[in-house]
Amino acid sequence: MPVSSLEELERFLGYSFRDKNLLLQALTHKSYAGEHGLRSYETLEFLGDSLINFFVVDILLSEFPSFSEGDLANMKSYFVSEEFLYELAEEMGLDRYILVSGKGSNRRISPSLLSDAFEALWASLYIDCERSADATKRIFENLYRERIVSSVRREEYKKDYKTLLQEETQRRWKERPVYRVVSVEGPQHSRVFEVECSIREFRATAKGRSKKSAQQMAAKKVLELMMLSES
Ligand code: MN
Repeated sequence: MPVSSLEELERFLGYSFRDKNLLLQALTHKSYAGEHGLRSYETLEFLGDSLINFFVVDILLSEFPSFSEGDLANMKSYFVSEEFLYELAEEMGLDRYILVSGKGSNRRISPSLLSDAFEALWASLYIDCERSADATKRIFENLYRERIVSSVRREEYKKDYKTLLQEETQRRWKERPVYRVVSVEGPQHSRVFEVECSIREFRATAKGRSKKSAQQMAAKKVLELMMLSES
């Protein structure tokens, strides 16, 4: 059985599955499927990947019709990346539902596993609603359209503070910053992560809806502190 009840996940999506087994399949890793004679999410992931590509490109093109193909390609690769999808999956609390072999602390759910299951989830929803791409797209857009659009406006797809910070700390000291989760708060579907980033005498904490976004903001603060100390 999943770690948490599927109803919460359905509530988050605003969609109730007719075929709960299809949803379960999307959450079943091959390690668990093999042990229990179930089907894993792999083929669903294959389809989900295509669906998400379609949704993302259509959102980008309808919102930003004057962008060049090159710009769109850059943005698309950010929004369909493992990192971005992992962030969305983490916010959804998807890790709690994944069926993977091993118990308790042995349940190792990597970012790539979680982003794959996120892709599979969209394929399972699509198949469940009688393969209505429209209905599936509407749900995806309800959850993520605004976020994608505002992220483009803020040019987040270009900014990676963790990389910028690491380049700077390597340049100055040949060292890397350290990230640590300080706290996790809030209910399952709206968790808030607080992360600390430190390097030498520089230290900052930041909160975010995912570990990754909290790390990014903490890295940004540390980078600013370092830049101020230099001038
Ligand atoms: Mn994948």
